Amino acid sequence: MAQKPHTRFAAASRWEARDAYGYMGGAMKTCIAVVLLLFGGMCFAQIPPQTGTAYPDSEADAAWRGLAAGYVRQALKDRTLDRDGILNARVDAVMATVGAAVAAIDARFAHASWHAILISDFGYGAAAFPGETIIVDASFVRTLQLNDDELALILAHEAAHVVAGHAAVKLSFMAEFLGKEKVPNARTALLEFFANDAYAAVYQPRAEMQEREADSLGAAIFFATGYDARRALRVFDKLADLETREERHDLDSHDIATARKRAISGVLADLQRLHTQRESKPQ
Ligand SMILES: [Zn+2]
Repeated sequence: MAQKPHTRFAAASRWEARDAYGYMGGAMKTCIAVVLLLFGGMCFAQIPPQTGTAYPDSEADAAWRGLAAGYVRQALKDRTLDRDGILNARVDAVMATVGAAVAAIDARFAHASWHAILISDFGYGAAAFPGETIIVDASFVRTLQLNDDELALILAHEAAHVVAGHAAVKLSFMAEFLGKEKVPNARTALLEFFANDAYAAVYQPRAEMQEREADSLGAAIFFATGYDARRALRVFDKLADLETREERHDLDSHDIATARKRAISGVLADLQRLHTQRESKPQ
């Protein structure tokens, strides 16, 4: 489990390019909770109804947690765990605020404790794992000189993958695609997924859909944090800048930065409008 099953990405120009996830679990419930909490009436995230997963949640979670633990063990061995106290303190503080926003939106996470772990040259900007663990590439944070608002938007996007249960559905896809005889448990499904890029290619359309969901749901989480949206959205200008200088990876499931900025700005503007309407309405 300690081996790195991914090909590395030079500059981590997009966070968690070809990230680790699958489809949605309790996302519909979350969407409803967000709507009830903040506004009323409309489900902006447009998340389709929940579907069954091939492995028990606890088994799927354990497989992904094992992968996250493997990355951390490897980082310890490679001495790439980032020990910059100031940066770690900043990331912890932003993570705590994002975690509190998730708790306010989704009762399942009311008592969750989120962890953001900084690893140098992780190869992905950031990646989220069940167990409320987010691994953040310290080099990505430094290269893009991310401020707290930008960090909050990134961590909110990652948290959204966890809230939406995307990880479990990636494993379900493997069971569906190969047959459960070939991948009898969640761990074998996970190892097999990373053993061959061909699976990611087949999974790509779903991965793209999940990225859009994580952007929408992440925008709602971000909105609940109180961080500055205008400052946060500048991260996409930085990413767009990198995109013009780099070749796009075939298996990048994210839309280009300008499209993501537009989509997230739209969700945030809708939320702000609904919030303002609600505030001005006499109770
Ligand atoms: Zn993502």
